Amino acid sequence: MKKDLLNNKIFQMAVSQFDRTADFLELDQSVRERCKWPKRLITVTVPIQRDNGETEVFFGYRVQHHLSRGPVKGGLRFHPGVTLGEVAALAMWMNWKCALMDLPFGGGKGGITCDPRTLSAHETENLTRRFAMEILPFIGPETDVMAPDMGTNEQTMAWITDVYSTHAGHFVPGIVTGKPVELQGSEGRTQATGHGVAFLITRAFDKLNIKEQNATAIIQGFGNVGSHAAFTLSRYGVSITGISDITGAIWNEQGININELTKHVHQTGGVKDFPGAEFIDPDEMLLQPCDALVPAALERVINDKNAAQLQCRVLAEAANGPTTPLADAILESRDDIFLIPDVLCNAGGVTVSYLEWVQNIQRYQWSEQEILTKLETKLEAAFEKVIHFAERSQTSHRVAALSLGIEEVATAKSVRGLFP
Ligand code: NAD
Repeated sequence: MKKDLLNNKIFQMAVSQFDRTADFLELDQSVRERCKWPKRLITVTVPIQRDNGETEVFFGYRVQHHLSRGPVKGGLRFHPGVTLGEVAALAMWMNWKCALMDLPFGGGKGGITCDPRTLSAHETENLTRRFAMEILPFIGPETDVMAPDMGTNEQTMAWITDVYSTHAGHFVPGIVTGKPVELQGSEGRTQATGHGVAFLITRAFDKLNIKEQNATAIIQGFGNVGSHAAFTLSRYGVSITGISDITGAIWNEQGININELTKHVHQTGGVKDFPGAEFIDPDEMLLQPCDALVPAALERVINDKNAAQLQCRVLAEAANGPTTPLADAILESRDDIFLIPDVLCNAGGVTVSYLEWVQNIQRYQWSEQEILTKLETKLEAAFEKVIHFAERSQTSHRVAALSLGIEEVATAKSVRGLFP
């Protein structure tokens, strides 16, 4: 299994970041091994009947990295590129993120290898419900709590809530987060990740003496995270000059109108052909000068081919794993880019997920304003912790953020001891 996992580029990336940080922390070998490998790797087959009457079998995964500090927490991804290795890497990153944010969760992640754009609403519902049934013995509000990720949304979470609650014989809102508010989802959860990304960019701007009103940003990805980051940044006065998604990339030196673009995306399914901007090559877009570059789509998009050419002041990793270790080495040798590493940058989502879970368990509801205030307080604390650690230890922001998360998990494992 180790060999199979290590065959995957994204898992290798997560392991390489872990090993580097464990070396930096001089982590004891026995704890290091326990922290590195996932506790449970669950693979299920998910057969559904397609609308044309044919049966198709999909592969689904859920990886629970460790359960030492609480239930595992992490998204569910529907994407053609989903593999067990990718899911395991994302679960590992969730660990360090939850620990860094001081949330009582371990890391988990799930996914189904499918192209959601080719599935009808009915097929998507059947796929989700059948997947939930297949992994039912392994999930629960105290074991594993899923949330939306690429290709999934609050409707997906509503179906999972329904399957789990029907099986339990009573309504169990704490089984997932990112649910609709009508099912006791939290106010503010949908925009939480993007809002957090934008908030942290302003914290970085403060450190660099950049004023929002004079600043520009380029965003890759206009889904949940990218679009809400764009909205919040433009509300703060930042001009968004470039945006890309799977359909292409658009550019407007004067700033893209985010409200108009959102309408266009709802009507056409993508940013392509938006009348308020010009076409730009998506790879070229990443290299344009800007104050904040926000990869909010895929892994490994900042790599050894483009890292040296980036012209941003802040690299805000809204996506998980957007920067390869080779690119990291290049970025570290440049002192002109302020990195907000993924485990910190996109932690707004899991933080509000935690608040949703707390509300579900307590049968209590906070207002959107209360949620966003709690979120910003937590993000601010983690941001300052990372910056101070990096300064004190003369290390990169990534190693600092991972060190804070990994140390927390390693300590919990040491204190609990090894079950015979
Ligand atoms: P989403 O499915 O809502 O949106 C993904 C976006 O990426 C879409 O606009 C899609 O068109 C675009 N995209 C896909 N392929 C692309 C390509 N080749 N080039 C440019 N754009 C492309 O997903 P999301 O929830 O916004 O997640 C985006 C990233 O943020 C993922 O890495 C995810 O793991 C991470 N993340 C999401 C959350 C959350 O709360 N949703 C939380 C933490 C991290």
